[in-house]
Amino acid sequence: MQLPLPIPDLPPDQAPSEVPPRQRVYVNRNLRLDCITAVGFDMDYTLAIYDQRAMDRLSIDATVRKLVVELGYPECLLDAAFRTDFPIRGLLVDRELGNVLKMDRYRYVKKAYHGMRELSREERHKLYHSRPIRPGSARYHWVDTLYGLSEVTLFAGAIEALERVGTEVDRGKLFDDIRRSIDLAHQDGSILDRITSHKEFYLRRDPDLPAALHRLKSVGKRLFLVTNSHAAYTEEVMAYLFQGYLNGYSSWRAFFDVIVTAAKKPDFFRRDDLSFVTATGARAESLERGVIYAGGCLSELARLGELEGDSVLYVGDHIYGDVLRAKKESAWRTMMIIQEMDRELEVHEEVTPLLDRMDQLEAIGDVLHEELRFRTARLKQLGRDLERAREEGLATTEIGARRVHHRRLVERLKTRLRDLSAELEELEVRVDRAFHPYWGSLFKAGPEVSLFGDQVEQYACLYTDRVSNIARYSPLHYFRSPRDRMPHELGASAE
Ligand SMILES: [Mg+2]
Repeated sequence: MQLPLPIPDLPPDQAPSEVPPRQRVYVNRNLRLDCITAVGFDMDYTLAIYDQRAMDRLSIDATVRKLVVELGYPECLLDAAFRTDFPIRGLLVDRELGNVLKMDRYRYVKKAYHGMRELSREERHKLYHSRPIRPGSARYHWVDTLYGLSEVTLFAGAIEALERVGTEVDRGKLFDDIRRSIDLAHQDGSILDRITSHKEFYLRRDPDLPAALHRLKSVGKRLFLVTNSHAAYTEEVMAYLFQGYLNGYSSWRAFFDVIVTAAKKPDFFRRDDLSFVTATGARAESLERGVIYAGGCLSELARLGELEGDSVLYVGDHIYGDVLRAKKESAWRTMMIIQEMDRELEVHEEVTPLLDRMDQLEAIGDVLHEELRFRTARLKQLGRDLERAREEGLATTEIGARRVHHRRLVERLKTRLRDLSAELEELEVRVDRAFHPYWGSLFKAGPEVSLFGDQVEQYACLYTDRVSNIARYSPLHYFRSPRDRMPHELGASAE
């Protein structure tokens, strides 16, 4: 049943090409919004955007105390410098060697740090380039959530601090202890209580969010929430996010047809035997509007909530827990919230002249390499001609002069190529540093797409910086992906 809706000021329809880049929804797979009948949302880092640095600092402080006081790690950790600007999403922790790695889409390690020291190209090659990396194996831990960033900061900072004072470190155990301590700090309230009592410090409210959700409802789409957070925390956070922007709705709960908390994603998508329970702990036989449920699974949601198939769009921030599992276990369409987009797009615009110059240098380099091959072959030929002329007692002056001329050309070409590759290398460092002081762009690893970028491309039908960006488009909009071209098709059109 559709409730009568209040009518707030709706944002105007904009031609998709007029939407500023930072507010755009980007498309990997075509999606017709008019065919979507229900839109589901994750809460943390999706509807609720956190101040990343403040959150990292909070979990680092809580975790370091646990490591030293409860697990007996050396006290030097209390004064160690844990840099919250160190990690990005899409890094791989090597539990065995204590390194942190960034890979491209072919699982080739492009950057690596031990503690806060960057490994040289030679070290990287020696350690990681003899066989392919298997990110799913026990040795490695893949970090693809914003929640997981503090684990990387703690691991790299602790390795640095402990090795500096000469402490023997069991790196795998250290990483496991860090992860367990962060989870404990979440469970025992040291983190969540602090957030709920200082919401304005940790949460960033988006005033456009309620109107964006209303806009979807106003064309008859059902909205639902599936979060792993518990009911009390969900209530606190959602009430805060919508406070002052309810536009006539009785509460945040009135925006949603189904509200599911403590969902245990990714198991929510994988298992089919988990029931929804009500606040009293009773098994739910139906899903009522305005009621907060806990637990459940996808098949129960399909059965009780009639939310099934490719007419459902699910919006989340976690590749594995939200997007990949929803995609693999169901026909749900997916939209990924990547709050780093804002900064990535800003820097991308700044460095476009540098990227253009790099393209230009690469094109010049191709021509110079071709020229060098030709001149080197010519030089060899002249060497043979000179030898033959000597053997046959013929005049060698002219061949000798031509040979000297070619040799000078070859030297000059080599010098130009060296200068060119030095300039390219310098530009690459400048571009990388502009994106991020340690790791470069989230989506790229050198000239290739990063493993993180690859996963976004594979599993998210749509991706954008924040949920409210969807209101920049008509609720009936047809999101079209740029036409996929294979390299041979690009080549044919370029000629
Ligand atoms: Mg989330």
